Amino acid sequence: MEERVRRLREDMSREGMEAFLVLGRANRRYLSGFSGSAGWGFLTLEKAYLLTDARYREQAEKECLPLWEVREVKWKKAAETLQELLKEEGVTALHAEEEHLSRASWVRLEEALEGVELRPARGLVEKLRRVKGREEVERIRRAVRIAEKALSATLPLLREGVMEREVAAELDYRMRREGAEAPAFETIVAFGSRTSLPHARTGEARLAPGDLVLVDFGARWEGYHSDLTRTFFFGRSTEEQRRVYRAVLRAQEAAFEEARAGLPAREVDGRAREVLKEEGLGERFGHGLGHGVGLEVHEAPRLGEEEEEPLEAGMVVTFEPGVYIPGWGGVRIEDLALVTEEGVEVLTSFPKEILELEG
Ligand code: ZN
Ligand code: ZN
Repeated sequence: MEERVRRLREDMSREGMEAFLVLGRANRRYLSGFSGSAGWGFLTLEKAYLLTDARYREQAEKECLPLWEVREVKWKKAAETLQELLKEEGVTALHAEEEHLSRASWVRLEEALEGVELRPARGLVEKLRRVKGREEVERIRRAVRIAEKALSATLPLLREGVMEREVAAELDYRMRREGAEAPAFETIVAFGSRTSLPHARTGEARLAPGDLVLVDFGARWEGYHSDLTRTFFFGRSTEEQRRVYRAVLRAQEAAFEEARAGLPAREVDGRAREVLKEEGLGERFGHGLGHGVGLEVHEAPRLGEEEEEPLEAGMVVTFEPGVYIPGWGGVRIEDLALVTEEGVEVLTSFPKEILELEG
């Protein structure tokens, strides 16, 4: 983890930054180890201070790397404490993560700092977080295993008349029992034509024969997330349902084959899109192919049509092509993969052959 701070400082030097204020929760945790919800990380090229309040002091002292000095603050006076530190360190300009501070707080901070210019910084730590270290990948693997076990244990609940919410509650419960800190995000369970909403809210619909069943969920373990989608058939599937399912699966497989370090993200997305176009379903794939997963469920990089940024070995990203037909339903298949020099290693292993659940 010290390595992360070292690399951030390299970037700071390159950008001519004297001091950097870390405000994003995941960024703070990534650099310091502190997992609490309130804190400012203040870094110069030599020093690192973690400012937090009395509630978190003990936790911060336990969790932070030794290179961080923990200072207790009262939030109303945090800017004053910061001002003192800036003075001690002889800082004249402070770069802060503007995406993680409200406009109002930014203005207040700006006014409170005397003789120090507040400048916006964007995406510095997010950029470092794109490429995962070995320990991070291990945590994600664990989060994947928890989610997959929970899904296996939940499948028997899919019977006629069960409510979407009951299935979601069971998945969440099973994940906790398998050791998850929490679900990675609000679990999505959708039945029938509601599956055509890519981010359907789990509701009170009841399972009926012939329905598509879409589950999109994940677990969080030691701060790291998994994200997985499967689409099943309840009872006999129709030919059209099978055709769409196979097209989505082929799109995902083609993207897996294409992906490797060095390839622009848009080309990987494009490969999946190409397959769906061949099937006449291109118009029905309305979102990007995937996103990075780590300390946040959605983080850099993005795999989309416009993303020029090349994939790098060590990135962990989702591959989640989908086809959504209003009134008919939707099919999405989402797996997590680790990018390597030669290709990708798929981290999820839950089966993907057409699964017709018995009614
Ligand atoms: Zn998902
Ligand atoms: Zn996703």
